[in-house]
Amino acid sequence: MRVLVVGGGSAGWIAAATLQSRLNGTGPGRVAITLVESPDTPRIGVGEATIPTIRDMLRGFGMAEADVMRACEASFKHAIRFDDWSAPGSRYLHPFHRHRSPDMQTAAARWLEGDGALPFDAFASAQPALITAGLAPRALDGADYQGPVPYAYHMDAEMFADALAAHCVARGVRHLRDHVDRVDRDAGGLVTGLALRSGQRIEADLYIDCTGFRALLSPQAHQPGGWVDQSRHLLCDRAVAFRVPEDPERFVPLPFTRARALGSGWCWDIGLMTRRGRGYVYSSAHISADDAEAELRAEEGAAASGLTARHLRFRVGRQVAPWTGNVVAIGLAAGFLEPLESTGLYLADYAARVLCEMFPPTPAHVANPALARRHNQLLAEVHDDILDFILLHFAVAGRRDTAFWRDASAPQRLTDRLAHLLDIWNVRPPRFSDFSLRYPPFNDLNYEFILLGSGWRPAGLGRGRGRPDLPPDAAAANRAIAAGLPTNAALLARIHGRPGATRP
Ligand SMILES: Cc1cc2nc3c(=O)[nH]c(=O)nc-3n(C[C@H](O)[C@H](O)[C@H](O)COP(=O)(O)OP(=O)(O)OC[C@H]3O[C@@H](n4cnc5c(N)ncnc54)[C@H](O)[C@@H]3O)c2cc1C
Repeated sequence: MRVLVVGGGSAGWIAAATLQSRLNGTGPGRVAITLVESPDTPRIGVGEATIPTIRDMLRGFGMAEADVMRACEASFKHAIRFDDWSAPGSRYLHPFHRHRSPDMQTAAARWLEGDGALPFDAFASAQPALITAGLAPRALDGADYQGPVPYAYHMDAEMFADALAAHCVARGVRHLRDHVDRVDRDAGGLVTGLALRSGQRIEADLYIDCTGFRALLSPQAHQPGGWVDQSRHLLCDRAVAFRVPEDPERFVPLPFTRARALGSGWCWDIGLMTRRGRGYVYSSAHISADDAEAELRAEEGAAASGLTARHLRFRVGRQVAPWTGNVVAIGLAAGFLEPLESTGLYLADYAARVLCEMFPPTPAHVANPALARRHNQLLAEVHDDILDFILLHFAVAGRRDTAFWRDASAPQRLTDRLAHLLDIWNVRPPRFSDFSLRYPPFNDLNYEFILLGSGWRPAGLGRGRGRPDLPPDAAAANRAIAAGLPTNAALLARIHGRPGATRP
């Protein structure tokens, strides 16, 4: 079977590495994989925050954790911190860890009985205390990808794609640097080959479209019937970003993504080993590109002066059928949700894994409608599931001080499913049975961090009187987790070989 991945951004290399590791193993196998990447069309160059599933992905590729982290200037991520979402000065965390002891099965209901003095995130997770203490998520000499709490990374997107590329090429993936000038199709719409700028023509049995927002091999992505437009739910459609250099000898990146609400959207602050990534995700209906850039520069302060900003446009939605004929779109070509919960790379990883599950046994099965239909169904479900989770942040945000926040939180933005869930949660806190997916990327435990962090309470439930003490087993778990952990600075210094970066 010949597979041709078109596009060498993070999605293209994730697809190539997933097919290689799952279908071929460590060397050449039954699937001949080629990746063609334009030398002239740059990658999108953003996509710096991840979620914990990335550790399983990298482990599955057979990459050593320290090698990946060094190659991508990566730091650790315990959580996302949402600043100013409820009101100026408010903040809450969405950590990855959650206590699972019997006493904590009803953590939300228990916490709601209290006076709220102890934030819900610190009540239900060990990670807020680790962040306050400056501790890392895993031990100094711990096994790769393993720690007492789940964790993810912040990393340089370009370097990440390059690291995956080197890994894939070493394992037998063929890499062509050439620009696809023309996509040839037969009368039935199946792709028959690609004409490259060098004059070469290449053919495959299965084509993977990872050409980003261009979706070069997926004409249906640009037609109304082939695209599910979700911009009525999520208003942000642009971003402006710049990189703030930091002194590598002194800088210790924060172990969480900071997502601060601004006037017409929100901005990220992501610390890598030598710089911070800054970006403002905003709604073009509410602010101009120039004003958004000025607002982000003002938020950063003096360090932003002289830095070059990049402006990006995106559309929120997904292809109806990312697997159409003999083409499977993965990554931005398949769809996009704004990056509030760092789900872009996860969606590419998930799509590549689903493709392996559905992988056609012979070239004759590539355009098999049954395989394609199941693939498309699974991808639509998970994409729409994440849409609801991101939408929740805006729906329960307390801010109403600008037109954007009033529009973004309006009831008509809700999907039917999220409106129904919020009706249920007006009666009681979320439960696992509220979710239908077998492995939802975000479940009741994640929703609770956002709901309770935002100040949501079931209708008619007044503020409790007592301060809910941390149950003894959760307090003991917090102590046991922290006891074995080095400082974040010490672990990063060890991994990156930077003795200077030891400031706690
Ligand atoms: C503002 C913003 C912030 C984001 N933040 C995050 C985040 O924090 N976390 C996260 O997980 N995700 C994030 N994402 C999503 C993430 O950036 C993408 O999911 C990820 O980078 C994958 O992109 P891609 O590979 O699909 O596309 P791209 O990076 O755009 O790659 C496209 C590839 O196609 C190639 N190509 C295009 N045309 C041709 C042609 N004619 N011939 C040959 N090759 C061609 C290009 O050369 C390139 O290699 C963010 C996205 C945006 C817009």
